[in-house]
Amino acid sequence: MYTPQSSKKADLTASGMYDLIKKLYPIPRSITGNGVRQTLKIISKKIPLKIHEVPTGTKVFDWEVPKEWNIKDAYIKDSRGKKIVDFKKSNLHVLNYSFSVEKKMRFSELKKHLHTLPDHPDWIPYLSSYYKENWGFCLTHKQLLGMKDDFYEVVIDSILEKGHLTYGELYLPGKKKQEILLSCYICHPSLCNDNLSGVVLLTYLAHYLKNLKTNYSYRFLFIPETIGAITWLCLNEDKVSQIKYGLVVTCVGDSGHSTYRKTRDGNTLIDKVVEKVLLDAGTPYKIEDFSPCGSDERQFSSPGFNMPVGSLMRTPHGGYDEYHTSADNLSFINSPCLLDSFYKYLGVIDILEHNNTFLNLNPKCEPQLGRRGIYTLLGGKKETPISQVAMFWVLNFSDGKHSLLDIAIRSGINFKQIKETADLLLAKDLLKISRIN
Ligand code: ZN
Repeated sequence: MYTPQSSKKADLTASGMYDLIKKLYPIPRSITGNGVRQTLKIISKKIPLKIHEVPTGTKVFDWEVPKEWNIKDAYIKDSRGKKIVDFKKSNLHVLNYSFSVEKKMRFSELKKHLHTLPDHPDWIPYLSSYYKENWGFCLTHKQLLGMKDDFYEVVIDSILEKGHLTYGELYLPGKKKQEILLSCYICHPSLCNDNLSGVVLLTYLAHYLKNLKTNYSYRFLFIPETIGAITWLCLNEDKVSQIKYGLVVTCVGDSGHSTYRKTRDGNTLIDKVVEKVLLDAGTPYKIEDFSPCGSDERQFSSPGFNMPVGSLMRTPHGGYDEYHTSADNLSFINSPCLLDSFYKYLGVIDILEHNNTFLNLNPKCEPQLGRRGIYTLLGGKKETPISQVAMFWVLNFSDGKHSLLDIAIRSGINFKQIKETADLLLAKDLLKISRIN
């Protein structure tokens, strides 16, 4: 079902994901507004997203859907009329959710509204003020040092008014009603690893799964961070009991190694599955405990829901200097790392889908395998010692109590080989299925 893609197809997936990030990168996104709509419209060309619009003022648990924010332009001009900060050059230049401003002011007054990163003088910080009405500009520290005690013309052409919170959702029904939730956030403007890498990986994952027959049902969410998760949970509380496991997809395109942040309980099946995928990949990785300060998993895993939702990332948000700055750009991510993350997510789905439990039909002593021609089948023509080992593990632990993942973890053999071995033994009538995942 999830056979590895041909190298040509893998190249297409890798370049396709990167190209989609390039397309989405310039769009000025926020937690509401046309940037989100435009983003979801582009994603909808690849997957059949359902777009939801939730009106401003809708009560969602302890919160309220905020006013909608849209921005056309923003700049600071010096007294000679020269634009020294220009939103059209980078949408990070404006404090996200700034209300509209049009006035002339002295540098001493303007300075209170300017934000920079003195430690990284060439980078623009990304800042927002969603719930406290404010205005401001973010600029490089070098730009700030170049400003004199002058009169400046300050313009922010934005609208903050009653509107909607927009999000996208795709539900792919499987054989069972139980769902796997895969969620990403779509509210950051021109930032690549934090935000866009997760958005495109999830788009490609949904595209990959949409025509396959799966056991689990899959729900994909493209929501603004925090308020989007709170809104979705509030409006869809009846669906929560169907969600068996979930992952928040973010920071999956940088060249750091993979990091898995566990679910709140830390020992659920999804935790074991992701850890096994990372172990089987054979490259360095890190496992972190759940954090109540994480991304949307902190809403999904709030005590009233306690959904088993982890997060499979590369370098976690906050773990790299470029985080929430203009340096989290198109050169901070790369397509091989995006593809590697994509395959790890496919690996997770592969195990979830195929983690069946079997019963050995010849449980008294080991079956005579040579007579059944199995030795020659394993590992192609030439039998490899590991295939025999896998077979012994599968036969011994197919007692109706141990799933294929249990056997793979206990034996230290990769899941793929354990599964292929079980398939072979099933075909030879030495096993029967006792429980489907
Ligand atoms: Zn962020």
